[in-house]
Amino acid sequence: MTTTATATRRHVYLFGPSRTDGKADMKALLGGKGANLAEMAALGLPVPPGCTITTEVCALYNANGGKIPDDVRADVLAALDEIGRDVGAKFGDAETPLLVSVRSGARASMPGMMDTILNLGLNDRTVEGLAARSNNARFAYDSYRRFIQMYADVVLGVDHSVFEEILENHKNLNGFSLDTDLSAGDWKGVIAEYKKAIEAEIDKPFPQDTSEQLWGAVSAVFGSWQNARAITYRRLHDIPDDWGTAVNIQAMVFGNMGPTSATGVAFTRNPSTGAKQLYGEFLVNAQGEDVVAGIRTPQPLTEAARKEAGETAPSLETLMPETFGELTRIFDLLERHYRDMQDIEFTVQEGKLWMLQTRAGKRTTAAAFRIAVELAEEGILSREEALMRIEPGALDQLLHPTIDPDAEKRIIATGLPASPGAAAGEIVFDSDEAEALKAQGRSIILVRIETSPEDIHGMHAAAGIVTARGGMTSHAAVVARGMGRPCVCGASALKIDMAAGTLMANGRTFRKGDLITIDGTAGEIIVGAVPMRQPELSGDFATIMSWADGVRRLGVRANADTPRDAEAALSFGAEGIGLCRTEHMFFEEDRILAMREMICATDEAGRRKALAKILPMQRADFKQLFEIMGERPVTIRLLDPPLHEFLPHEDREITAVAQALGISPATLKARVTELHEFNPMLGFRGCRLAIRYPEITEMQARAIFEAAVAASKRTGKSVTPEVMIPLVAYRTEYDLLARVIRETARAVEAESGTKLSYLIGTMIELPRAALKAAEIATGEDGAEFFSFGTNDLTQTCIGLSRDDAAPILASYEEKAIFEVDPFVSIDRDGVGELVAIGTERGRKVNPDLKIGICGEHGGDPRSVAFCHETGLDYVSCSPFRVPVARLAAAQAAISSNAAVRDKD
Ligand code: ADP
Ligand code: MG
Ligand code: MG
Repeated sequence: MTTTATATRRHVYLFGPSRTDGKADMKALLGGKGANLAEMAALGLPVPPGCTITTEVCALYNANGGKIPDDVRADVLAALDEIGRDVGAKFGDAETPLLVSVRSGARASMPGMMDTILNLGLNDRTVEGLAARSNNARFAYDSYRRFIQMYADVVLGVDHSVFEEILENHKNLNGFSLDTDLSAGDWKGVIAEYKKAIEAEIDKPFPQDTSEQLWGAVSAVFGSWQNARAITYRRLHDIPDDWGTAVNIQAMVFGNMGPTSATGVAFTRNPSTGAKQLYGEFLVNAQGEDVVAGIRTPQPLTEAARKEAGETAPSLETLMPETFGELTRIFDLLERHYRDMQDIEFTVQEGKLWMLQTRAGKRTTAAAFRIAVELAEEGILSREEALMRIEPGALDQLLHPTIDPDAEKRIIATGLPASPGAAAGEIVFDSDEAEALKAQGRSIILVRIETSPEDIHGMHAAAGIVTARGGMTSHAAVVARGMGRPCVCGASALKIDMAAGTLMANGRTFRKGDLITIDGTAGEIIVGAVPMRQPELSGDFATIMSWADGVRRLGVRANADTPRDAEAALSFGAEGIGLCRTEHMFFEEDRILAMREMICATDEAGRRKALAKILPMQRADFKQLFEIMGERPVTIRLLDPPLHEFLPHEDREITAVAQALGISPATLKARVTELHEFNPMLGFRGCRLAIRYPEITEMQARAIFEAAVAASKRTGKSVTPEVMIPLVAYRTEYDLLARVIRETARAVEAESGTKLSYLIGTMIELPRAALKAAEIATGEDGAEFFSFGTNDLTQTCIGLSRDDAAPILASYEEKAIFEVDPFVSIDRDGVGELVAIGTERGRKVNPDLKIGICGEHGGDPRSVAFCHETGLDYVSCSPFRVPVARLAAAQAAISSNAAVRDKD
């Protein structure tokens, strides 16, 4: 920032009954607190007058080596004159001293900043003026001791324990228990001791000059922007360092003037449930943060809350009915004005109410839903605005069972919160065993050092997954998120002994079968089965979702491989299946042998023999899926993973396969070695498998079409499967396999006497496919749909292996090369451009081309917005992310409609 740019700008903004310069939308300049104080003053609410020094001055201050510019000083003093005129007092005056609070206030609320200083302007002389003028010496000295305590702590760096000790001693000596027991004389004695203690600590007397006090406090606020706590907080919350904080200097009002004075905090609605009820607390004859400091027990605001809490001290409603009435009216007014639930601070001085702060209140996700729905029903928000109020990412909290917040929990170890939700079950270390026990109806937590594709069935069977190694994008994490299983990854404190079947952590040993609970949202592993809360998908949640469905343009499908996934997807509102991966069907215990037989067969006849065993199983799976999904679209991807993932490795597996094939284990071992690949991700996988072994596609297509015939016979609904060919880069690849699929369809039609309706399309997951989209989609026989496989497209576009990305991601995010993890949120500039190119080129030759994305990005709100803007037809994501995608799609539609309106 240059001095010339700021020289002409106003640095100090007034608020109060006679003049208010700022307003609510000036948060960048005035900070949140200052902007809202101005707004309340402009609304005519009782706000003690004051002024705000802008956030720009913070930057000047810190750039100037900690000097407040002279013109700013002059402006502040002029403002103080005006504030003093408003309240009939003068800063530093011995008879009628103006006292102020000095309050920090950044653009975003930021703990770690300087604490507020109250009653600034008091010294040995002004305190007497205050005592005389208020005719309340006790109040005056109580205020003075508070000021000394706060100022010394915050500005002079004297630890507050020094003061607590002095006060405690004084109380003990006199047999007092409460601060309110102390008289003016008592406080005078305490103050003398405070001052002595300060001088002993800092070799200087407590400042008596009120200007020195003022600039000391202002400097402390600006300086606190650079303290370690604030810097850490900013880094963790992505708050730019150059925002700066504002300083608010405000005339004091006093909640500590006796029994008709009080101070309190309130939410206009219940922040944990969202219920429309005043929610808050107050303390009589108290000041500032006494309410939250826990020195005395605060009293509830309403009678209802008092009764519910079984509290004997009266509520504000009975104690000060008039004030309570006014407060209620103001709360209502503020809610309507800000059109949101407010978090409010107020003070009552001798029966007169003063407003000291208002801001949008923090709330739980459940409360956010209820508040949004009710504000819309009350006519305060439109439905579209209500939809924009909910953060789609926060939905996770609602969609999984969560640990009862009131439950007691003993944590064994912590790891990464890899996949949200909580689950309890028996410890099992082996995937086969997990599957077997699950079949007996037991709940399992699969505990592994790390997982591999061979654990898929165990992960499916488990209620939750724990690994000792691996990051947020490890195999376990990615698969668990896709399956919607809670997962804690990389819990490195766990010592797992597979052979002994034990788990050691925190000095305790757990055995197979011991009960544990995991919290994948918090990354915790807990002893025993902790009580949980089930997700609630009705009520306000359902209302918001139906509103979202009313405005979104983008379709939302789910990635679902099993009937169970499909049912979950439907219950979460999926409109179809965007990706059914067929490979897990091969992984299942009874099938893997046939699959291995197929891979290891040395000729087509051998492969066909093995495939014939798999066909009925696949057909049964697809039939079930079609029956569940009815007429909704189901996209089935042909076999995709590298063959080596299916290969037998252990001796007993090799023996079994060799036997089935009628060959020697040695021959089989040689075959396995032959299939080894150096870089399987870019190797023999996707359509390349079927180009070499078309009989695989033939079998899968047959399973799909026969299942479609059977399912529509059974349900009477027409089924339209979408057959998806993976990893295509060349039109020729597509043609070769599409031909096999069409021939198979004709055969099934002839055999069954039924006309099939189906689509053939491809997954776009290689840059070449995106570039050659027009070629792939052109003509009668071209692809009828595209599904961008953005997981692989990200890997192949950036040339970064997801499974190896964890350590790279960390430094790339730190060095700001990646703004976000490109495997979580689509890289708009690079991968996104490929998606846009593919979409545009594909649609040019075939305007009816259906286009969607599948992969984890489909459930990421930012990526969903991208898909909306790029004109895709649908996104597909894991079932548990479907509501997130529905809401994100609605928000994207609302935002782009608004952008269009703004342009007009
Ligand atoms: P925080 O940002 O930590 O909430 P505030 O600046 O809001 O800090 O101050 C904390 C409390 O101090 C307020 O809630 C209010 O009770 C009290 N306070 C601040 N300014 C004044 C004032 N001018 N008169 C009376 N009380 C004040
Ligand atoms: Mg505070
Ligand atoms: Mg506050």
